[in-house]
Amino acid sequence: MTIFKRELNAVRIIVIHCSDSERPEHDNISVINNWHIKRGFAKVGYHFYIQKSGKIQVGRGLYEVGAHAAGFNSESVGICLGGKLVFSEAQIIAAARLISNLARALPNLRSEYWLIPHRFLDRSKTCPNFNLSRIDQYLDTDLDNKIDCNGKNFEYKI
Ligand SMILES: [Zn+2]
Repeated sequence: MTIFKRELNAVRIIVIHCSDSERPEHDNISVINNWHIKRGFAKVGYHFYIQKSGKIQVGRGLYEVGAHAAGFNSESVGICLGGKLVFSEAQIIAAARLISNLARALPNLRSEYWLIPHRFLDRSKTCPNFNLSRIDQYLDTDLDNKIDCNGKNFEYKI
């Protein structure tokens, strides 16, 4: 499947995912890359993967449209945390640092509620299986109105 390009100002939201696996041998973006290629993607569909250790691995470039949230890919950045039910503090802190930096690099995020768990965009999913308030406490304090905490403030497209 072709990877489409975009301008950074097309990005309006950041979507948080989990890998849905607790197996240590799965905790690497190279494994996710293989899974996604088997599903027919050109390469891993996420822009970033965060290992249990807190190490951030890069998937797609920000100028590349991802493949992680049906109906929202062209306008989003996808971040995946390795895990199914257990997410380390190191992962959460790394995610918050990454998101804080992205917020400064992306000129056109929604004015509010731009940090969204995958489950709010796809009612059939529970992803990422943790409350984004865990990340919120570590985000830079000037980033107000980031998280749609209950899903009622975001317009579903699908
Ligand atoms: Zn997801």
